Amino acid sequence: AKARGRNGYQFYAASMSGEGLERLRLEALLRRAIEKNEIYLHYQPQVDIATRQLIGVEALVRWHNPELGQVAPVRFIPVAEDTGFISQLGQWVLAEACRQMICWDTAGLRVPKMAVNLSVRQFERGSIAPMVASVLQEAGLEAQRLQLEVTESVIMNTGDALGYVNDLRAVGVGLAIDDFGTGYSSLAYLSQLPVQTLKIDRSFIQDISTDANDEAIAVAIIQLGKSLNLSVVAEGVENEEQAAFLLRHGCRHAQGYLYSRPVAPDDLLAQWGQGHDE
Ligand code: C2E
Ligand code: CA
Ligand code: CA
Ligand code: CA
Repeated sequence: AKARGRNGYQFYAASMSGEGLERLRLEALLRRAIEKNEIYLHYQPQVDIATRQLIGVEALVRWHNPELGQVAPVRFIPVAEDTGFISQLGQWVLAEACRQMICWDTAGLRVPKMAVNLSVRQFERGSIAPMVASVLQEAGLEAQRLQLEVTESVIMNTGDALGYVNDLRAVGVGLAIDDFGTGYSSLAYLSQLPVQTLKIDRSFIQDISTDANDEAIAVAIIQLGKSLNLSVVAEGVENEEQAAFLLRHGCRHAQGYLYSRPVAPDDLLAQWGQGHDE
């Protein structure tokens, strides 16, 4: 209900004290978060299901603020997107992830591939290929070891998406479609995209052994990947039953709590570095 006349503003101000104010506060704190060193990355292994070998990691951004405590990405990424801060944040994440690969190399752990998430908003101000190329060069990381994850919404909601994605491909980085199956990409369009990987969304993996529909969708995505010659990574694999199902249906790669939660760089090194227990 809308308040009338003179009370209108007060009413609005009162409603702002809830979610709106919370958001403003997040926004203000987030703006300073990078310079205050409150932002950092955790890395989640991607593995070969059959051999349990490390095939790559996904960088996942973390924010710890002294006032707010730990803030989940699902809370602050949308704020960063709405305010445009995502461009700065996204570039920081990319640079940090690339630097980390070289650190692990130096420490004797060769992680084959680093996957980094991109937001649809990072595509709004034109091609980000030059930025990606310069970040790679600065870090000294070969482009082939970087994979950028984009969702179907990036591809469907960006004017010149195909052009931008081709630009990135020309830099030499790999491309993955994240949360595959939850968006609206047309299959015809998919065959034109220069992507190498499909990531099956966690929602389909979750109930794989109890929900016949989810099972059918997961199998269809695996088949699609095969037909288009793409590698398929299952997200959110939490138990052996799901892993066995995936392997049986020809999906070789997975990521999920069964293998590891997202971890700090040193923990990844301890877990997968030289002399780790197989
Ligand atoms: P996402 O890209 O789909 O990342 C996977 C999310 O699933 C991560 O949540 C990860 O911790 C979680 N996950 C992994 N394995 C399992 C599992 O076995 N079970 C369950 N229940 N969850 C699992 P997180 O780190 O909270 O990130 C949430 C989302 O925030 C990401 O979803 C991504 O969309 C976004 N995000 C995270 N980091 C970045 C970033 O650097 N840039 C951008 N643009 N978005 C990011
Ligand atoms: Ca992702
Ligand atoms: Ca995902
Ligand atoms: Ca997701």
